[in-house]
Amino acid sequence: MSENICISVSHSRGTSHYLINRFKKRYFALAAASVLVLAGSGSYSVYSLYEESQLSSKQLNVLNKQSRHLMASLSEESEANRALRQELEEKRAELALLTQRIDDVEAVLGVNGEDGEDMSLQARVDSAAVSSAVRATLFRLIPNGSPTPDTRMSSRYGSRVHPVTGKQKFHHGLDFSARIGTPIYAPADGIVEVVRSGNKGYGNFIRLNHSFGFTSSYSHMSKFNVKRGNYVNKGDLLGWTGNSGLSTGPHLHYEIRFLDRTLNPRLFVEWTPDNFESLFEKENKVQWASLLEMINNMVSMQVQLTQTPRYNPTLQTANNLAEQHSDGDQVQVSKL
Ligand SMILES: [Zn+2]
Repeated sequence: MSENICISVSHSRGTSHYLINRFKKRYFALAAASVLVLAGSGSYSVYSLYEESQLSSKQLNVLNKQSRHLMASLSEESEANRALRQELEEKRAELALLTQRIDDVEAVLGVNGEDGEDMSLQARVDSAAVSSAVRATLFRLIPNGSPTPDTRMSSRYGSRVHPVTGKQKFHHGLDFSARIGTPIYAPADGIVEVVRSGNKGYGNFIRLNHSFGFTSSYSHMSKFNVKRGNYVNKGDLLGWTGNSGLSTGPHLHYEIRFLDRTLNPRLFVEWTPDNFESLFEKENKVQWASLLEMINNMVSMQVQLTQTPRYNPTLQTANNLAEQHSDGDQVQVSKL
């Protein structure tokens, strides 16, 4: 058997023959095997890379999806955030407006100029509400303003020469010059205590009994619009002016009494919310401080009653103390 391998290669110029001996044959086989191994491992590497590439591509898709989802969420979040910020701004503006209005109300009421800075908004509202309610109550229940608007005061309260008798006499009321038939309105809520017709002295006469010891009376009237025992509100029509009784001309004689002592009606006629303090400063026959305290207590209770229940630290502390005391008792009992 030949030791050689003959390889024939045909080409255009004929055929060439190559003889490969045994050693060369082995070498050739080794080389061919190496090429095959290299080709195999190369193919495997290419396949592995392809697999990895496919996996990466899938992962990239997933990541892209997640990214898109996150972007959408972020967009929603920032939209919600913007809406919340806008709402917050609106609330801040409302709060500023409310604070300004409370400042205005306090300025009108003349309360809490300095203390107001340290008080909570709720406390300031409460305080303003109480002050406002106290005023409203006072201007409802205590005579104020003119009983015959748009008429001229013709004779003041105090010592004077009586126009009919010519004698020096104390004038206990305030006269309004008013043509017969001028309407007379109640200057505060009250009850009609006296309705009396007459040709002497005060003539046709009405007396209203108001709260807190005040009365008001109307003399020389021409006609009545109320009866004894009627309850009247401030502004109700009592009757009309006239010239009855001891009178030199058509006018209304208006008196205000406190515990049956006459007061200067002019202070009450000129008493308005704009000069709230004036009456208390000028009229010293009434214990105003005591009256104001009473009304303040009354309306404070009403304001609290109309509020929704909220946290009360004083009450909370009292409850805690009660609980602690209760626990203490239990400990003592268990020790015994
Ligand atoms: Zn008079």
